Amino acid sequence: MTVQETRSIHFPFDNSYARLPDRFFAKLKPSPVRAPQLIRLNEELARHLGLDPESLSSPEGVAILAGNRVPEGAEPIAMAYAGHQFGHWVPQLGDGRAMLLGEVIDRSGVRRDIQLKGSGYTPFSRSGDGRAVLGPVLREYILGEAMAALGIPTTRALAAVATGEQVAREELLPGAVLTRVAQSHVRVGTFQFFAARGDEEALRLLADHVIERHYPDAFRSDIPYRALLDKVVARQAQLIAQWQLVGFIHGVMNTDNMSIAGETIDYGPCAYMDSYHPDTVYSSIDHMGRYAYSNQPGIAHWNLSVLAQTLLPLLGEDEEAAVAEAQEAINAFPEKFKVAYLTGIRAKLGLVKEREDDADLAQGLLNCMGENNADFTLTFRRLCDASAASTENDRGVRELFADPAAFDDWAVKWRQRLGDEDSNDDMRQSAMRMVNPVYIARNHLVEKVIKAATEAADFTPFDQLMTVLALPFEEKPEQVRYSLPPEPEQVVLQTFCGT
Ligand code: AMP
Ligand code: MG
Repeated sequence: MTVQETRSIHFPFDNSYARLPDRFFAKLKPSPVRAPQLIRLNEELARHLGLDPESLSSPEGVAILAGNRVPEGAEPIAMAYAGHQFGHWVPQLGDGRAMLLGEVIDRSGVRRDIQLKGSGYTPFSRSGDGRAVLGPVLREYILGEAMAALGIPTTRALAAVATGEQVAREELLPGAVLTRVAQSHVRVGTFQFFAARGDEEALRLLADHVIERHYPDAFRSDIPYRALLDKVVARQAQLIAQWQLVGFIHGVMNTDNMSIAGETIDYGPCAYMDSYHPDTVYSSIDHMGRYAYSNQPGIAHWNLSVLAQTLLPLLGEDEEAAVAEAQEAINAFPEKFKVAYLTGIRAKLGLVKEREDDADLAQGLLNCMGENNADFTLTFRRLCDASAASTENDRGVRELFADPAAFDDWAVKWRQRLGDEDSNDDMRQSAMRMVNPVYIARNHLVEKVIKAATEAADFTPFDQLMTVLALPFEEKPEQVRYSLPPEPEQVVLQTFCGT
């Protein structure tokens, strides 16, 4: 007879959000699932959080990751929040299918939420069932980890567990639970929740909580809440610029999906664009293209103005002065975004020096890509090889353009500009290869691994894709198929929400 070994699992919880007043959340327990099975554990992240991967993979650990068991020190809560969904005000949303188990301090000293997503019914579930479907769980796992590997702030996936249960959507689909790790799950919508209720005390407590957690410097400022707003504006400007620079389209930039800590959060119908078209939309629910690629900076700006509005009671006694503070903070977004974007696009083009018309040069390339159906990621990656005085290595990049001569015309201007730089070709090319990824989580690849997992319970393609995406800047000849754009018959035009 074999005895199944269970070790006692220690989560070094140090919960702060659960100390806030009761109206910030609902205390609850996850709902158990029938037959939990570990799909993948992010061992490196586990260790970083001070957790033991081996015990987390044991039956007892998997029971925790599935919500069948609550670890010692956890205080499961569903957080309250509101939000604007596609511009429409919804006074109460909240964690309808997620619960925060607690917080740990990671090896770098950063406080991290550990949350189960898909763990069952909560008081915020409204008409939902509190469950998550395997496909979207894998999508969030893949895209979130790919984002982290690109060096872009994001929530992380600690684990994915299959529940052994079916979830009823338009059809019956396999269920799963994702364990998500975030600097915090406080959203613009969390502030909206209390602002809409006129609960100034809660607003202040929430603002103090996030300042202490994410922006402690703000306490030293004359108006800490103004400093908080400035810092959130700055982080979002940086984040959205980074999305634009890798062609990422979030898909549902509702205010409840915008993190105060400045991380990419709530991966739903998100995707990376293949060929460059600024109006690209993948989400099946985004009929008007509100969250199209090119709209993302403007939407972030709008969401931040909503945040600013919620902070008005904290920005000054005098309403007029408070509005002026808020306005000034929000008005800084476009310039901050522009600076972050320009810095990034210069690096992508191999430029170190700053020249007045660099933005035009970059825009010229993008326009040319749009007109010639050129692949976003590969164009920049192959530009690294071409980055020399001679046109000798232009073949790879120019063949991505429907009319290669259009690229040649642009490249003349680019080479003139490169002539201004002090770097030698080798130095410049290797610097460019560190900012222009070769592997992104391309939609057709993501769909394929999800299909294998959900239809044939085959997780090997998923694991292989995760391995490739972990090192997005290191080109390996045997992985070439992961770098290529979809063939016409592989193109995925629509992505679907997790719900
Ligand atoms: P999302 O589209 O994932 O950002 O979710 C928007 C809102 O709907 C949030 O309040 C979620 O908690 C809630 N929600 C999404 N899916 C479900 C579900 N299956 N059951 C309950 N609530 C859900
Ligand atoms: Mg959400």
